[in-house]
Formats: sequence, structure tokens, C-alpha cells
Amino acid sequence: MIVQKYKDMLKGKSVIRQLSEFATARGEEIGYENVFDYSLGNPSVPAPQKFTDVMIDMLTNRNPMELHGYSQSLGIPAVRAKIAESLNQRFGMNYTGNHIFMTTGAAGAIAHAIRCVTQPGDEILTFAPYFPEYNPYINLSGAVLKVVPANVEDFQINFEAFEEMLTEKVMAVLINTPNNPSGIVYTTETIQKLAKVMTDKSKEYGHDIFLISDEPYREIVFEGTDAPYVSKFYDNSFSCYSYSKSLSIPGERIGYIAVNPACTDAEYITNMCAQISRGTGHNCPPSIIQLAVAEVLDLTSDLSVYEKNMNILYKELTSLGFECVKPGGTFYMFPKALEDDAVVFCEKAKKYDLILVPGDTFGAPGYFRIAYCIDTEKVERSLEAFNRFVKTEYR
Ligand code: PLP
Repeated sequence: MIVQKYKDMLKGKSVIRQLSEFATARGEEIGYENVFDYSLGNPSVPAPQKFTDVMIDMLTNRNPMELHGYSQSLGIPAVRAKIAESLNQRFGMNYTGNHIFMTTGAAGAIAHAIRCVTQPGDEILTFAPYFPEYNPYINLSGAVLKVVPANVEDFQINFEAFEEMLTEKVMAVLINTPNNPSGIVYTTETIQKLAKVMTDKSKEYGHDIFLISDEPYREIVFEGTDAPYVSKFYDNSFSCYSYSKSLSIPGERIGYIAVNPACTDAEYITNMCAQISRGTGHNCPPSIIQLAVAEVLDLTSDLSVYEKNMNILYKELTSLGFECVKPGGTFYMFPKALEDDAVVFCEKAKKYDLILVPGDTFGAPGYFRIAYCIDTEKVERSLEAFNRFVKTEYR
């Protein structure tokens, strides 16, 4: 008999994917250039030239058995050591290669981290608005996701609700900064306060509470924004990183977990991850991509377009009357819809070929997400559509 739980998941198809499919279908009718598709978080700038050059050079000159052979299940040792060294230099940490576990993107990193520190039935807290894929990552591990309501003032943490929900059953807290969908970056003050609450509660309950920090947007931070390195503030922390957005290579599926060396049982965690991979079948990430990223560790794509797009949209939308917390990074913004029901609002926007994602998907009804990882020229053309939409439907 097939397993009902996966069959049931078919009913909960990703809203973002559905909107993206709608945008593609509409594009076939009227030309994709005329659809303002703000649905998907797919980078819009190419990978750095050096990444391409490294790939070509490796394919031309290196031993194919090394490039295409199985990686060690923890990742290639020299790559892990280089990542540790780069993180130590940038953030003043003291990782060694043994603290780094190579994964298939941030998704793989989070899925492993969850399994290291929770048993089925344990609770994991995250904060609205949150990335909806946390539901399958967590639910399928057997742990239980609980969502702390949003602090809509500034999308920093709602500490009152957090402290109430941080019961003895909670074994891990999952944060995402810079944040998808709000674009907000947690301040040093927020991270310090979070660490203090978690430290106090760990002592009170007599068990560790782990901090899983989801950081695929770590490099996409706008001018003047304070973007602390989360693991510096809390010993029992895992940094879940991905090269998907910083190097614009989401299809290559590469990232890592960096386990804080001061974490409880730090010496076992990456080896435990390798055991988890054996069970999930997500072992041995591609060798060639590990070797390639190791050559461009401190580079990024030209990410400046995202800040430019954000500024254009923020200025226009706020002048049209939208309330919006100004993003400090990522390529998302999360304004308040112009009516209570953001699903209805986003449905109406489709008439103007504006594809926006209702905040309900992110645990924050009444808001909507704009993924502005599209060409600036298209962002500029979309302003007229936003104007027509607002003036026709809401004036
Ligand atoms: N976490 C967040 C907040 C994301 O936005 C994404 C992807 O969009 C992921 C995790 C998954 O990242 P990856 O594609 O590198 O696995």
C-alpha cells in the first residue's frame, strides 16, 4: 500500500510554485516579458566569471576520476578545511574542517541539523514570517514545527510570544536572517537577546536547546545594515549555509553545516550527519562542485542589482501608500496588503500581470512577498502596473 502521508502532501502543493506556473502559462499567452513575475527566489544574476573559469579549467585539466568520483560522505577534507579557515578569518570563529559537513544546499543542511538534535515529537520553534519549506523539512523528520507569531512592527523577534512558547518540549530554534520573506536582518541586539533567553531556558529545563541558523542570504546585505554572524553569540549553534544565492548556483545544490566548536558533543555532530545521510540517501554531495566553490569561497556574484531593485520598489510602493519595513538584505520585501485578505489582494494583482505571493504561505496573513530577483528594467516597467492596480482596485 502506498503511504498516505505523502499522498496527502500532494494536496498542499507549494503556493509559490503554483504562482510561478501561472506566470509561465500567462507568459506563453502575452509574452513572458509582459508578466511581472515576483514569485520565485531564483537569482537573476550570473555566477561569478571566476566560478565558470574554474569549472572549465578543472574539466580541461584535472583528473576526471577525482572530479566525478564519489566524495567522502562528510565532504572533501581539503574543501572543508578551506571553508573553516575562511569562516574563521571573516567571523573570528575557531572552526576546523572537522566542524564542516558538506550538504546539498541549505535545505540539506537544515534537514540534517534537525535530525541531529530532535527526536520525533520534540518541538522546533521558528518565527513568522518564515520559509514555508520548513514544514516538510521538519514534519518529515517527526519533529513538530511551532511558529512564533510575527512582530509586525519591524519583523525582529516577538520575544513575549517566544518566551511563552519556549517550553520544555522545545529542543531547537530555527532562525533565518537575512530573512525570506521579510528581507529583514536580525540586529546584534536581537541575536544577543535570543541567545540569553535560550541560555536561561536551557539551564532551567536542564537540557540543551540548539540554535539552527539558516543563512543562504548571508552575503546579500544592504548598505548600513548590521548583520551579525549568529554562531558567535550562542555555543549550541549550527550555521546552515548555501552557495545557491551568493554564487547564483541554486541548481548545483551545494552548501554546508558549520557546527560551533563550543557546542555540546561538537566532535560527534558532523560524523552523525554522515550517518543521517546514509539513511536519507543524501550522502556524498557532488565532488566537482565542492572543488569549484573551494576556489571562490570569498567571492560572490554581482549582488548590487538586488539593492537597486529594492530601492526602486520601496520608494514607489511606499509613495503609493503601502506600509513596508525596509529590507536590510536578501531579494525579498514584505509589504502589508491593501485589504485584510492578502490572498484576495494577490489574486486581484494577477489581473495586472503582477505575480505576488500572499503572506499566508509564510505564516503572516495580511502581507505579501515580492521576490525582486528580476531585471531592473522589468522592475521599472512593473511600477506602472502597480500604479494601475492600486488606483483601480483601491481608490
Ligand atoms: N532557506 C531559505 C530561507 C530559503 O529561502 C531557501 C531557498 O530559497 C532555502 C533555505 C533552501 O536553500 P537551498 O536551495 O540552497 O537548499
